Amino acid sequence: MEHSLKALQEKALKEIAGANDIDALETVEIQYMGRAAGELTAILKNLKDVPAAERPRTGALANEIKQDIEAQILERREALLAREENESVFDVTESYVPRRESGTLHPTTQIQYELEDFFAAMGFRIIDGPELESDFYNFSALNIAPDHPARDMQDTLYIKDHPTWLMRTQTSSVQVRAMREYGAPLQAIASGRCFRNEATDARHEHTFHQLEGFVVGEDVSFAHLKGILDAVARHLYGEDTQVRLRPKYYPFVEPGVNGEVTCSFCAGGGCALCKQTGWLEIFGAGLIHPHVLKEGGLDSKKVSGLAFGFGLTRLAMLKYGINDIRLFMSADMQFLKQF
Ligand SMILES: [Zn+2]
Repeated sequence: MEHSLKALQEKALKEIAGANDIDALETVEIQYMGRAAGELTAILKNLKDVPAAERPRTGALANEIKQDIEAQILERREALLAREENESVFDVTESYVPRRESGTLHPTTQIQYELEDFFAAMGFRIIDGPELESDFYNFSALNIAPDHPARDMQDTLYIKDHPTWLMRTQTSSVQVRAMREYGAPLQAIASGRCFRNEATDARHEHTFHQLEGFVVGEDVSFAHLKGILDAVARHLYGEDTQVRLRPKYYPFVEPGVNGEVTCSFCAGGGCALCKQTGWLEIFGAGLIHPHVLKEGGLDSKKVSGLAFGFGLTRLAMLKYGINDIRLFMSADMQFLKQF
């Protein structure tokens, strides 16, 4: 009995070591350890036929061999699994197709592109201006003198050691640059990032997007301004949209207006978004102030101009019902994947 046990152990260990994959190892395991017909199982079952005097010694040996075979199977299985894993990492014959997640345009960019297309179709030139701007183009040229209170409302980030440089607070900074470069007649839009020194909350952010539009030429009037704004409002919110203009002071226009459209969520009936007024404020506009035309190198006796500005970030908030402006600059993938 002892002899056949040792012979079996030797044979089993040899076959375990020779098993070259998991399937082969399982076959070996069943052959020796299988409940129904395993060779070692059969010997253990027959222990009762061993003479009583030898039984404890033979039993102990059989158990020792069983544990040895089990341990060897376990070890071999781990080695085979590790080898499979390594092979799958280093399989140079496998063709490599990189996984690429396709992104989408940021909601602000989508609205910007949509409006650029719209204005381009109306014959507007699409221009650009620097985000790091001079005090002159951002404020002084726009009739905002150094001691003007509007500077308090548009506090921004200034550049150390360069007292006349700042991060632009509005896309209106492009107006005088464009007049100097292109002269009149000119109709153009400029959109992009603007910056303010804000204590941020759900409605205020240090970085946001605006779109500025302006027209200069002979006999440019308030009627042109109203016509353009009506067209934009209908484009954005539908044919039935009404525009309401109410006087508002901006240093760089005279007269200036605050533009509202009928609330697209309640169709003017009143809701939480429009604070029950039925109107949504979406832009500021007016006829360009003679001072601004003069800084742009134009003769305000011969040409006049109109200007209007939209908060692109605000338009995106209204379009998608976003209630916290901070989400736009948060790089939150859960937020961005929705657009
Ligand atoms: Zn409403």
